[in-house]
Amino acid sequence: MRPDFPGRIFFVNLSVSVHSGLNTMAYTFEEFKQSVLAQKPHYMVVGHPISHSLSPVMHQAALDFYKMKAGYIAIDLYPGQLPEFITWCSHDHFLGCNITIPYKQQLLAVPDDLHPDAEQIGAINTLAIDEFKLVGHNTDIYGFLQPLKRYTKRLEQGRAIVFGTGGASKAVVYALKKTGIGEIILVSRKPERARNSTPETVVGYSQWQEYADETALFVNATPIGMSETKGQLFINEEDIKRMEGKICYDLIYNPLQTQFLKLAKELGAITINGLEMLIHQGSKSFEIWTGKPFPIDQVTQKLTAHFESTI
Ligand code: NAP
Repeated sequence: MRPDFPGRIFFVNLSVSVHSGLNTMAYTFEEFKQSVLAQKPHYMVVGHPISHSLSPVMHQAALDFYKMKAGYIAIDLYPGQLPEFITWCSHDHFLGCNITIPYKQQLLAVPDDLHPDAEQIGAINTLAIDEFKLVGHNTDIYGFLQPLKRYTKRLEQGRAIVFGTGGASKAVVYALKKTGIGEIILVSRKPERARNSTPETVVGYSQWQEYADETALFVNATPIGMSETKGQLFINEEDIKRMEGKICYDLIYNPLQTQFLKLAKELGAITINGLEMLIHQGSKSFEIWTGKPFPIDQVTQKLTAHFESTI
């Protein structure tokens, strides 16, 4: 029998690591296992680092909106703890989870089944329980596309340059193909290695400039600009001028305005940060877990209040 109390109460009595800035509470896996929370119905997001994640704010707001008796926590999972985490996924109180950097590809083999999108991409960001089976999904595809719907005409038959070749980049490429984009160029620190895992054109950081003129959309799918690299750029600063007037999309949402978007905006680019993607990928995960529509307005209000209280 599952105990009866609302998720937000979970956070009150725990010993947790609270980080500054926009960050939410993050638990180590050890802290979590020793906490009362581990013995209550729970969802989680696992990653490393994880303190930047706003998923707990967002999903707890949605769970509370429906008065669901479950908590949502962020767990800073060290690579050596992956086997223990995998075992945890069959725990009675485990209801599902999100997976973030750097585990989206590493945990692909864990679920019993994969949604066809996730299988195609080779990366998962959501684990859900479906009739006792663990199923892996990728909701980043849906989340990424929502803000681009405003620019369909500009993208049709155009070119996109995507920086980074990790889990999020794979979802971005898959999603972009659904928009009818003409060509996708990937930029990698190790293009030779990346070419083995994608049919797309992959170039290095000294070559993408050749493709920039005819490009409609630039996407940052690297982690550069968040956490300890806040304020940094993934390209040379002088190359930003190649993005003048184009669409510049940074998947990072914390901070809301990365150095990339700040400089691109100063040049008159259309800029999109990762917040809308975060909300929409979260909405899909929530719907998969609970079968309920995500209360977007309430979640957005909660996130806005969180940003205002932590800036
Ligand atoms: P990931 O799997 O670790 O991949 C990131 C890729 O970026 C790597 O494969 C690497 O590609 C490149 N990279 C890594 N470190 C780098 C460095 N120091 N300098 C330059 N390039 C580097 O991470 P991910 O899960 O794809 O996430 C990428 C970013 O998207 C993160 O910032 C994450 O927070 C964000 N994201 C946001 C949302 C959202 O909802 N807004 C959703 C998903 C992800 P190469 O080795 O080929 O260079």
